[in-house]
Amino acid sequence: MGKLTGKVAVVTGASKGIGASIAEHLAAEGASVVVNYASSKSGADAVVARITKAGGKAIAVGGSVSEPAEVTKLIDEIKKAYGKIDILVNNAGIFDFAPLEAITPEHFHSQFNINVLGLLLTTQAAVPLFPAEGGSIINISSVVATLAPANGSVYSATKGAVDTITQSLSKELGARKIRVNSVSPGLVETEGATSKGFIGGDMEARLVTETPLGRIGQPNDIASVVVFFATDDARWVTGQIIKVSGGAR
Ligand code: NAP
Repeated sequence: MGKLTGKVAVVTGASKGIGASIAEHLAAEGASVVVNYASSKSGADAVVARITKAGGKAIAVGGSVSEPAEVTKLIDEIKKAYGKIDILVNNAGIFDFAPLEAITPEHFHSQFNINVLGLLLTTQAAVPLFPAEGGSIINISSVVATLAPANGSVYSATKGAVDTITQSLSKELGARKIRVNSVSPGLVETEGATSKGFIGGDMEARLVTETPLGRIGQPNDIASVVVFFATDDARWVTGQIIKVSGGAR
């Protein structure tokens, strides 16, 4: 029996990258997993197929976290399929870097709408489905929230907001026994990071020299820490922000 047998876990943005690995790790501990996606149905179906093949349980449910009507539909489908949510991983996110002179309202709103508003809308809709015994919400932040690199003011600010929300909601939801924590990755090799040119170039090389453990991350480096927060092992841990970054800070 896994540590999450009988639990229902929702992972937003789980069609690829860090979210896909989190979904697979939660399922490996016995959770029934909702694999959310925005546009990549085929990616989400492939994650569900991998989980099912390994003996786990999962369904794919589409919906953009930044669209209120789609969030409502997502949560309604989860209610129909499972009737409850024990674990919510707010992973869906986008990242874009731009120097001050290139910041536009679109650059600002696209990132804040998904990374911050999307997290709030999903959490707001999901909380009523948490059972009386409570559960765990894990927000995927980033080391950039405090590292604050040049040309990353907007993206870094979204993750600063995520960490503030984590701390605020941990106080708000503690009475309902819902724990809220942030996991803050350093650079991780994902489809998103690769398509932005962060992997295999100067940026990766520089970051590796600044990382005590001497390498960038893989999605499963993040997923195992998320599983810890999801399980009863973390039963007295809430409002925490943990960097999972090989020591980069
Ligand atoms: P990725 O490879 O680009 O994957 C992003 C995932 O988010 C995809 O499944 C995508 O779904 C989904 N998504 C995007 N917009 C969405 C929306 N509006 N609604 C629902 N899902 C949406 O990204 P990643 O590198 O795995 O990053 C995942 C999280 O980790 C993000 O929050 C990111 O900020 C954070 N993070 C990443 C790194 C890194 O180096 N990779 C470092 C620190 C933090 P579709 O494919 O269906 O569009």
